Amino acid sequence: MAKTIAAISTPPGTGGIAVIRISGDDAVSIADKVFTGSVRLCDVKSHTVHYGYVHDGSGRKTDEVLVTVMRAPKTFTREDVVEISTHGGMTASRETLDAIILAGADIAEPGEFTKRAFLNGRIDLSQAEAVIDIINSTNTLAKNNALSQLEGTLSAEIKKIRGKLVQLASQMQVIIDYPDEDLEDVTTDDIHAICLDCLNDTKKLLSTADNGILLRDGIKTAIVGKPNVGKSSLLNLLSRTNRAIVTDIAGTTRDVIEEHVNLDGIPLILADTAGIHPTDDLVEKIGIEKSLQSIDDANLVIIVLDGSSVPDDDDMHIIKKTMHKSRIILINKTDILKGKYTEQIRSAANGSPVIEISALSGSGADELKNAIREIYNIGEISAQSGAVITNLRHKKALHKAQEALENAVGCISSGMPADIASIDINAAIEAFGEITGETVSDLIIDNIFHSFCVGK
Ligand code: GDP
Repeated sequence: MAKTIAAISTPPGTGGIAVIRISGDDAVSIADKVFTGSVRLCDVKSHTVHYGYVHDGSGRKTDEVLVTVMRAPKTFTREDVVEISTHGGMTASRETLDAIILAGADIAEPGEFTKRAFLNGRIDLSQAEAVIDIINSTNTLAKNNALSQLEGTLSAEIKKIRGKLVQLASQMQVIIDYPDEDLEDVTTDDIHAICLDCLNDTKKLLSTADNGILLRDGIKTAIVGKPNVGKSSLLNLLSRTNRAIVTDIAGTTRDVIEEHVNLDGIPLILADTAGIHPTDDLVEKIGIEKSLQSIDDANLVIIVLDGSSVPDDDDMHIIKKTMHKSRIILINKTDILKGKYTEQIRSAANGSPVIEISALSGSGADELKNAIREIYNIGEISAQSGAVITNLRHKKALHKAQEALENAVGCISSGMPADIASIDINAAIEAFGEITGETVSDLIIDNIFHSFCVGK
């Protein structure tokens, strides 16, 4: 029998309410020991809410509370669950939790409620990971992808592919075990076709991974350019705050400022960097070093040029230096002068989008958003009803599966015996199972749940 666990499930700090969750066979009886109201909780119907007080060991009231009683199996953990809502802040909730621990519950480990939901079969591993992704999501797109994963979109896709392979593997096992019998209900062509089909499905899932992971975590975007071209003004325009200090003394942005921005659903982690230009100023030099580093680290580079003055060697140096990156070139200050240098920049841009903008008036901002959408296929991903891979662990498992299936297809194509291909097919089955948690080690499971917060 699993021990009954309890934890505060709301974040620390002041707030309207705090919720303490208790889960396990003794959840209701433990809650009854600390609760006084007009009912005994062991007598109430499931999924009902009750008003009363919690008392500590000495009979002193810890708080006025509402208690929700939810009996197994229709609960988050599939065990009996009691949730006690106390007033917010640390004191009332902490004292109430202490009373519950004294009454016999154990303190829950990080992620233990969700782990129980997984171990009790209510959700699979990818769905459990979706719970943490919903909590940690910084933008609607990431949250929607996580919600869809929690609803089982990815699990269903994986189970479909894995199911086909499991059936194939068992049919092949019969041929391998009884080679002399005339049992061949699966031909080499069948094996080849099924493996190829599964391989294509795997590739399709993998094709969503790079952008899916980026969109979950945010696109690291470095805003680079010479001093005074309008980088801070652009950051302000995009974040609609005055977080970066805007001045017209060249070289005032000496450190890298990072800002999480949700640009109409596009999650950007913007880094406004020190202006890149030759300098003898030591502090500025350090800032410029950091700018160059942030170009290396960035997923996307936004180069800002001052469109009101002729492009010089420093501008061209930045354009050259970022040639290998995903980038967008902005010609700023087009409210002063428009179009004069655009063609010249375009011919140096090597096909990267070049957009005329005014960080001051906001003109061109929509074109910038559209260019980012296009680079990261955001329209396609948000319209997609199928699974999107947003988790590096899933991506790695899919890569393993892809490799195994490619080997299987190769074996069959080159006329090798079925038992060789069946080794690869079993490897693919195992890799798919890692995603849903069927074939994953306890150590990995523990690691995943330990990254959760306490109370989840
Ligand atoms: P940074 O050094 O690249 O971060 O440049 P800032 O954002 O500090 O801007 C330098 C100066 O250019 C400030 O005086 C801004 O008001 C001005 N500026 C920035 N963007 C524009 C723009 O689009 N149009 C005009 N007219 N001025 C701008």
